[in-house]
Amino acid sequence: MASEEKIGSPQYVILPEGASRIIGREAQRANIAVGYAVASIIKTTLGPRGMDKMLVSELGDIVVTNDGATILDEMNVEHPVAKIMVDIAKTQDKEVGDGTTTTVILAGELLKNAGTLLDQGVPATSIIKGYNIAFEKAKEILESEAHDVDIDDTETLKKIALVTIGSKNIGGDDARSYIAELAVRAIKQVAQKVDNKIVIDRDLIKIEKKEGGDIMDTEFINGVLVDKEVANANMPKRIEKAKIALIDVALEIEKTEMDARIEITSPDQMKAFLAEEENMLKEMVDKIAKTGANVLFTEKGIDDVAQHYLAKNGIMAVRRVKKSDMEKLAKATGARVVNSLDDLSKDDLGYAGLVEERKIEGEAMVFVEDCKDAKSVTIFVRGGTKQIAEEGERAVNDVIGALASAVELGKYVYGGGATEGFIAQKLREYATDIGGREQLAVQAFADALEVIPKTLAESAGMDSIDVIVQLRSKYKTKEGKGYGVDVINAKIADMSKNGVFEPMKVKLQAFASATAAATSILRIDDVISAKTKAPSSGGAPTPGEEE
Ligand code: ADP
Ligand code: MG
Repeated sequence: MASEEKIGSPQYVILPEGASRIIGREAQRANIAVGYAVASIIKTTLGPRGMDKMLVSELGDIVVTNDGATILDEMNVEHPVAKIMVDIAKTQDKEVGDGTTTTVILAGELLKNAGTLLDQGVPATSIIKGYNIAFEKAKEILESEAHDVDIDDTETLKKIALVTIGSKNIGGDDARSYIAELAVRAIKQVAQKVDNKIVIDRDLIKIEKKEGGDIMDTEFINGVLVDKEVANANMPKRIEKAKIALIDVALEIEKTEMDARIEITSPDQMKAFLAEEENMLKEMVDKIAKTGANVLFTEKGIDDVAQHYLAKNGIMAVRRVKKSDMEKLAKATGARVVNSLDDLSKDDLGYAGLVEERKIEGEAMVFVEDCKDAKSVTIFVRGGTKQIAEEGERAVNDVIGALASAVELGKYVYGGGATEGFIAQKLREYATDIGGREQLAVQAFADALEVIPKTLAESAGMDSIDVIVQLRSKYKTKEGKGYGVDVINAKIADMSKNGVFEPMKVKLQAFASATAAATSILRIDDVISAKTKAPSSGGAPTPGEEE
């Protein structure tokens, strides 16, 4: 898996103040403590009954969130081992959009259990080897326990979306259900079949947010919301059945270009020069108008004179549009971005049922909507406060990531700690076949997985030891394998019946990243004060590739 390569480098320099070198157990002990401490910070946020964290910057900016990656990102961490933990959360977020807290908690637990084994005299190399064996086996069990989901299975997709959104504080059940539906709709719309496989380009779902209104005012836009205003007050602000031109051309005359051609020596020449300039701009606009376009988006600028002619032709124009938005506009409207006006023809134009500038909280934004078969869409998130709008944006981002992961692999597993608990059980059985020191490490890995149901149980105010005992006995029965923690009703329950579903890819990535982080931290046994700066990222090995 390519993603693991981004997990932090094992060559970090980690030293207490004043020391120039710490070696062996002492170095390992110190690093484990740091990794575990980071995990402890975000542990209480896990799941729908998890708590939020409020992060206050030195400047007084406030972020309230339950999102593991965001918390770690906003925290000021200096310690290199802490940075590895932050990196895995970021990687998880980028790769699959969800499961960041799970990844970090699991990495922390793997480190803690490794510490216990080290104290018992098990060498780090055996632990690393055992962890990698356990990961491979866990992956195998995960894959064999997964269930199929396809892009047309709206009901299952909505359940997956609801689990992801469940831990975000964005309003009541109505709001969650509504957001889940919008996300499923967006995913279905941008999904593409390539070689019989579903591919989701997450960039094709634009997530915009604006404070104000309510989360229920969040809009699905069948097209693109461009956070810019119409260039000139004389241009139309609303165009139905729009014919849209997308250009990567400045409607301006480069001054140097003119200077090189004309040397001005008299007022008459000046007049001629200005007329010439105006003419050139008018010609540019004529080329656009000739195609029948009535809406124009350009990545570049538009001169006042050009604006005047565009307005005269009844063309709505928006300038300095981001490149990423131009690409989305092309996908949504079917237009082609043209680099030269001479190339622009009627065939390059796109279509939208409506293009309109609207004032949102006093700020103009251009809505390009009602596109035909839009391959790029926008979810415009609203929220009563800045914090809610931001958490809403993170929630939508997570849900889109989770849904993309689910439909791309076409697999889901049970949440509520059921998958982790069940795999732990199977791993313990498997460990007895291995023998030796590695057996202890496989068992330690299994125990670490149980941190997920345990933490969920704690969040619901349950006795976590008791919950683990109950779950273990369920997993011994054939009908019991779907059991996990029903955090809402504070009891164990069958997650297959509760509909608590999570994408398999999210779990797989979480297990892989946690294993890679824990083993790369364990591999450090000599910490030397070095003059050169340690690299901020490098190649931690993929679990399983060890020894
Ligand atoms: P992460 O950043 O790891 O996604 P979350 O705070 O989103 O962390 O919590 C995810 C965990 O909460 C998963 O283990 C998931 O199965 C669990 N979870 C979510 N909704 C429910 C639910 N309704 N019942 C039980 N567990 C749930
Ligand atoms: Mg989540």
